[in-house]
Amino acid sequence: MPSYVALEVRQALQVKNFSDTTAALADASMRAMEQHSDFRSNRLLAQLHEPALAALAGELTFVQLHVGDPVMAHGRLIRNVWFPADGVISMLAPADDRGRRVEVGTIGKEGMAGASLLLGAPHSPGDLFVQVSGHGWRMEAEAFQQAAYTIPGVADVVLRYAHTLFIQASQGCACNRTHSALQRCARWLLMTHDRVNGDEFDLTQEYLGHMLGERRATVSQVASTLRDRRLITYNRGHIRILDRDGLEDASCPCYRIIRGEYESAIAGRKA
Ligand SMILES: [Zn+2]
Repeated sequence: MPSYVALEVRQALQVKNFSDTTAALADASMRAMEQHSDFRSNRLLAQLHEPALAALAGELTFVQLHVGDPVMAHGRLIRNVWFPADGVISMLAPADDRGRRVEVGTIGKEGMAGASLLLGAPHSPGDLFVQVSGHGWRMEAEAFQQAAYTIPGVADVVLRYAHTLFIQASQGCACNRTHSALQRCARWLLMTHDRVNGDEFDLTQEYLGHMLGERRATVSQVASTLRDRRLITYNRGHIRILDRDGLEDASCPCYRIIRGEYESAIAGRKA
């Protein structure tokens, strides 16, 4: 019996004085399963079998993600890894010596921040911060590495995810050189829509500028065009997706390529 279930059983017996131990055990197991179903709102954690998730559970700390919260700093030691349940973490790469940064990837409930630890890289490859609010779970880097080496399935799913991050970054590089700001903006909105619960989220023009690597005037023009086509509403930094199919038509093929690579690497496979 996993230790967390045994503890809950003991607590149940002490508090309620159950005469039927079997019923107490079933009750505790059910509560543990319900707790783990929350963890499964992160798609990587959802890939793990129940015993692996139970072994990780004690190391996962629930955290709220607030816009602008720093998650990791470029070149600094990775102290924690993060598994979002909703919201978006943005990864920015330095673009010049004057502090200009450009977004090279986003991380939401499909993934995690800190996967590079398993590639032997103890330092963050970029500046990571919360771009869209949400919540998720944090885990100490050392505990994560220990878990990856000892709990069956963890390293496999994280390495497969690391591969999809590489695809996202490389396809993004091709996208930035090839496709228009409007196409790239539509792609980014679709990727964000995939990572949040619902059709609305907050996003400032400054962040949109980081995302597109474009000036504020260009960002404003792109947002106006998407709004005029009735694909989104955009008011005071608040976005609502009105027409997802229309956004997919407006996006470049990169959205489908990145999503397809992810689904083929992660979805439908149990670690
Ligand atoms: Zn593209």
